[in-house]
Formats: sequence, C-alpha cells, structure tokens
Amino acid sequence: MVEDRVHSIDATLSLAAARATQFLNGLDERPVGATADVAKLRTRLNRPLKDKGLPAETVVDGLIDAVENGLQGMPSGRFFAWVIGGALPSALAADWLTSAWGQNAALYACSPAASIVEDVVGTWLKDLLRLPLEASFAFVTGCQMAHVTCLAAARNALLKSRGWNVEERGLYGAPSIRVVSSDRKHASIEKAVRLLGFGTQSLSLLSPDGTETLEPQALEETLKRCAGMPTIVLLQAGDINTGAFDSFSSLIPIAKRYDAWVHVDGAFGLWAGVSPKYRHLTYGVEAADSWTTDGHKWLNVPFDCGYAFVRDAKAHRSALSVSAPYIAANDELRDEIDWNPEWSRRARGFATYAALMELGRNGVTDLIERTCRFAAQIVHGLETLPGVEVLWRPIINQGLVRFLDARSGATDADHDRRTEEIIRAVVASGEAFFAATTWRGKRAMRVSVLNWRTTENDVRRTLAAAANALKST
Ligand SMILES: *Cc1c(COP(=O)(O)O)cnc(C)c1O
Repeated sequence: MVEDRVHSIDATLSLAAARATQFLNGLDERPVGATADVAKLRTRLNRPLKDKGLPAETVVDGLIDAVENGLQGMPSGRFFAWVIGGALPSALAADWLTSAWGQNAALYACSPAASIVEDVVGTWLKDLLRLPLEASFAFVTGCQMAHVTCLAAARNALLKSRGWNVEERGLYGAPSIRVVSSDRKHASIEKAVRLLGFGTQSLSLLSPDGTETLEPQALEETLKRCAGMPTIVLLQAGDINTGAFDSFSSLIPIAKRYDAWVHVDGAFGLWAGVSPKYRHLTYGVEAADSWTTDGHKWLNVPFDCGYAFVRDAKAHRSALSVSAPYIAANDELRDEIDWNPEWSRRARGFATYAALMELGRNGVTDLIERTCRFAAQIVHGLETLPGVEVLWRPIINQGLVRFLDARSGATDADHDRRTEEIIRAVVASGEAFFAATTWRGKRAMRVSVLNWRTTENDVRRTLAAAANALKST
C-alpha cells in the first residue's frame, strides 16, 4: 500500500502539472467568471465519503472535473473585481515546491532554508518598499493577519509605556486603547481590533475630505480631545475603492506629537512606492511605526501571502514570541515563530523570493506602472460609452464607474440597479469580470488592475464587452 502510494507520486504530480497548465493556457478562451451554479457544484462534490479510498491519480482527476466551471478566472488578465492579483510563473512553481518540500517554517531548526529565505526576502522587501531597515517583519497569510501582528506589537508597546505588561496581565483593567482612522478603513482593521480585545468601540472614525484622505486638522482635534490616552493612528496607502493615499508627511508628525503609534494599511498601495512615477504618494510613510502589505495582490505571489513590518522589533517580538522546552532560544538565526501569530506554518518565503527574482526591481516598477496605465485606459474607455459616469479616476490602479439609467426622472436607486445590471451583463458575456461596490452611497463598478497577465488586448476585449452590454441591456 505504501509502495503503491510512493509510485503514484510521479503520475499524480505530472497529471496535476499538465491539468494546471491546461487551465492557465485556456484562460483566454474560457469565460472569466464561474458558470456552474450551486446545485451543480453540490451534486458534483457532495458525494458520500466511502470506506474505501481511491488511487491518488483518480482523486486528482475527479477533483479537477468536479470543480470545472466553478472556478473564477482569477489568474486571467480580465479579472478586475475586488483587489486580486495573479501568480507569476516562478512564484507559482515555488509555491508548488513549497508544498512538495513540506517544510514547517516555525523554527530555524525545522527548516534552515525556509528561515534564511525569509531573512533575505524580508530585507529585500524593506529596501524595495523604502521602509526602515531596522524594522522587524513577518510573513503571514495576508494583510488581515499582518494587521493583527502589527497591532499586537502596538498594544504591547503602548501599554508597556504606561507600566502595563499586557502579555502577563491581559487587558482586564488595562488603560483603554483608542484607534483613530478614516471611516473608509478596510474591514480587516475592524476584525483585528476585535481579535486584539480593543473592541469596535475603541475606533474613532473620521470622514475623509473630497480627495478621500484624512484631514490634518480633523486628526489633530481628535487627538487633542483624548490626549494622554494610548492611541493608534491608522493611515492608508491605497484605499480599497479609490487607491487614495493619506498624506503621510503631514499626518504622521501630528500623530507623533501626541505619542500615537502610526500603523499603515498598504495592502496593495504600498507597492506604488517602488515606482519613481508614483513614489510621491508614499512620501513620508517610512516615519510610521508599522506597515502591512500583501504579496498575493500586486506582487502576484499565489495565495496566501502577506507581510507585516514593525519599527520597534522588540515590541513585535515580545508580543508574539513563545518559549517551549523544545525550542532553543536563538538570537542569531531567525525562528519565525517569534514574529508570527502561527506556530506550524507554510514556508511563505520561497514564493516571494521567486517573484522578486523573476521581476527584479525594474520588473516590479514595470508591473506597477503598466497595471496603473491599464486601469486608466479602462476607465477612460468606459467614459466614452453612453450612460457611463466616472466616479473616481485612477490615481493608481483603482477606478470607479457607474452606469446611469437613461430614463428621465431616474433616481439614484435606478442608477444603482442599472449599474448592477450592466455588471451582470459583462460578467455573463464571459469576457471580463467585475463586481459592484458602494461608494459615497452609490453603487459603482470597481476597476482593479493588478495582474501581470493583463495586456492591451485584454483592455480592448473588456471595453468591447462593456459596449455590448450597454447596447443589449
Ligand atoms: C485586501 C485588503 C486588506 C485585507 O488583506 P487580506 O490579504 O485579504 O487579508 C486590507 N486592506 C486593504 C486596503 C486591502 O485592499
């Protein structure tokens, strides 16, 4: 039995490689959106679990057939919904190898190569993103856990400075922490705040100005009102809808005057700083205390991959490290467990290493600038079509448009309906994939371009699909 299984590895992995390649090579012909409905997927997948197992190859073959049409064409160059990137060839291959190598990247002793690769890549990332070289870092599942990691460090440092050891005493009886942010913050911030025991009542939300950025005066007034309270100021590098950046050079000095910890959500936007053309948007960001970004968005590393960076490495480490009898404390080499919320974990460094080596500095810059250009082209192209209103012109790779109901006396609710209808029609055409969002109270179609695969031809196909949808709907 064990021998059979060993022999099946070759055939099973070859089958997976062949079918994966077939999937990726077929992206241009296949509808971008999933077409199988719930009932079909349930029937195909929801089989009784048998007593007797199946040969590995049969299982993989069956799985591929069962999910057919139930997968979204996320790796396609015409998938523009949400903020989702693709996977570079080397990063995808490195990710497969990560599974094949089966390393538990918890400790240096568990996997020397995994530990060293994270060490190297963490330094590359700080350099590329222009973050302070003394900052510590962690490779986590995404920006969500990167927020948790950074804000755990913030909690540790803010309460320590008030004589409270949160790691020992917890939060019962501790001074309350206040989190000041724009009301446009990503929902993952709220989840982090809940997980860390601050509670959503700790959030002071400010409305941004017309450029979707926090106003220095509003921030100052809020900080002044509760001066002396341990405070985290949350800023954004790339708003989820608009890609807007807070003005770090004017806001961070204000937050610092009130001894606040400044955390930056840069899930995708932090990458704009790599490009000389967009660098001005991140100017001053290095003065913050912690930063989060993703590998699985603009860098085109496969899911899941996010990065946390913390200026005060000591606070980071004391918030997350553990000791156990079988762990030899090691200050020279990186034990990932000291920096991450997880214990056993995937060796995430390999895929990022591959992505950065494949692109090089110029390749990252080119990827950022190219996708921004395509986002602008799509929004400009849509604007020339009848009944399209541009709500937000891309500053980077994000734009917002709305489809207007042409009937006289049409209300906002009618425009909302029309917007959803046109999005559905474009998705039904199979030519491109978009989703709706609500922005300033209006339904809108978000144009998010992050994939290395997107080409001029994808932009043309997308605009043609939108023109058709408008004509026929
Ligand atoms: C995607 C996103 C997040 C959440 O990141 P995950 O990687 O999905 O956990 C947080 N903030 C912003 C601005 C994002 O775009």
